[in-house]
Amino acid sequence: MTARPHVVILGGGFGGLAAARGLARAPVDVTVVDRTNHHLFQPLLYQVATAGLSPAEIASPIRRILRRQRNTRVLLGEAVAIDVGAKRVRLADGEIAWDYLVVAVGAGHSYFGRPDWEAYAPGLKTLDDALEIRRRALFAYEKAEREDDPEARRQWLTFVVVGGGPTGVEMAGAFAEVARHTLARDFRRIDPRSARVLLVEAGPRLLPAYPEELSEKAKLQLEALGVQVWTGAAVTDVGASGVQVGGDRIAARTIVWAAGVQASPLARSLGVPLDRAGRVRVEPDLTVPGQPTVFVIGDLAAVEQDGGLVPGVAQGAMQMGGHAAANICRAVRGEPLVCFRYRDKGLLATIGRSRAVAVIGRWRLSGMLAWVTWLTVHIFFLIGFRNRFVVLFTWAWAYVTYDRSARLILGRGGPAPSRPSPPGRPGSTPSSAG
Ligand SMILES: Cc1cc2nc3c(=O)[nH]c(=O)nc-3n(C[C@H](O)[C@H](O)[C@H](O)COP(=O)(O)OP(=O)(O)OC[C@H]3O[C@@H](n4cnc5c(N)ncnc54)[C@H](O)[C@@H]3O)c2cc1C
Repeated sequence: MTARPHVVILGGGFGGLAAARGLARAPVDVTVVDRTNHHLFQPLLYQVATAGLSPAEIASPIRRILRRQRNTRVLLGEAVAIDVGAKRVRLADGEIAWDYLVVAVGAGHSYFGRPDWEAYAPGLKTLDDALEIRRRALFAYEKAEREDDPEARRQWLTFVVVGGGPTGVEMAGAFAEVARHTLARDFRRIDPRSARVLLVEAGPRLLPAYPEELSEKAKLQLEALGVQVWTGAAVTDVGASGVQVGGDRIAARTIVWAAGVQASPLARSLGVPLDRAGRVRVEPDLTVPGQPTVFVIGDLAAVEQDGGLVPGVAQGAMQMGGHAAANICRAVRGEPLVCFRYRDKGLLATIGRSRAVAVIGRWRLSGMLAWVTWLTVHIFFLIGFRNRFVVLFTWAWAYVTYDRSARLILGRGGPAPSRPSPPGRPGSTPSSAG
């Protein structure tokens, strides 16, 4: 009896999981390797970061999701390099050989050559990130309550979100709701409603992937919530005490980075051309140029279609995962691989309670209708019946009461680290406030 081909899938996110599921009945053995033990529903991370949901409500153990798939095993491990010639992946603590490889390790944040900004302005990609942002934001209100100096208090009550894409818009809207509604009556010395929430975007408008009219509607909806929106405003420095935007200094203690995406550095070990964001320029069938047994999918792949790139969204990753699985089945049967074609199912971004924008086919929605669509889609795609049920109940409760039940400060509460900024850069000295 000959051994069945071994398919190794790196990453149990949207792409990796779709690939694994697509191979459920294939005559292959599958190994899914992820550095975390859970699949994360990233579109709802901002809810964890703003205390609306708890981590377990948006994440599920990968082992549990795939437990009924008999040809599949799941390993907790971090891939550190890919040796294409030897058909082996080097893990932080071992090695694994493949016949077919699917690389779906996604992307992280880009600080545009200033990795030192990350300490002051965390991005939102993992549950750890979300919990850190939640900790900083809630801690800021606690510090403000005990602060006598009005300037320092104002600094604690200023929240800056850098980047006006969907994540930035969602974060800014949620910060404003927390300030105006959730915490409004919880403090005695400060009025949380006086908190300032700023959304800073370098480009000319918010949500650049959306039609212009929806960008404008998103801006108006944010402003109605009390968010100050600055467009055409590039951040030139970030420090412990705030951000510099051109000539303006914004004193703030809570800063969130939602401005740039950089593909996983694992892509470099494939030794093929990458685009500016570090993504692998794959062939139309999703294989790596010159490597017909290696597929790269999801946020790590630069896939050209109709003169543009397939967007880095969950739908794109899932469709690529399914396609890579189908192509592996074809290869195992000795058939030629077929080209991938992305089917655009639309764009959705929420701004707050009853506020959202959506593009679905020729429809452009905003306000309540877009929000209900957003809610339905997100509940539908959440993994696990329990999660769907709990999230629906939590949102229904929050809708009626404005409450956010996950308002816990975990870990040793503290502000962003007060490391000195590089010399000669304006406005980035550690604050003495607080
Ligand atoms: C805050 C946020 C909000 C978003 N909102 C939306 C939205 O509303 N709608 C939408 O369509 N898209 C949204 N996206 C984008 C969407 O989540 C991504 O496009 C999608 O997750 C990409 O899927 P992927 O499988 O390529 O990567 P991911 O889903 O990121 O999965 C990558 C997996 O690889 C693992 N991994 C990484 N490195 C290694 C390694 N070296 N070794 C082993 N495992 C590794 C990770 O732990 C992770 O499980 C959002 C993204 C973020 C960050």
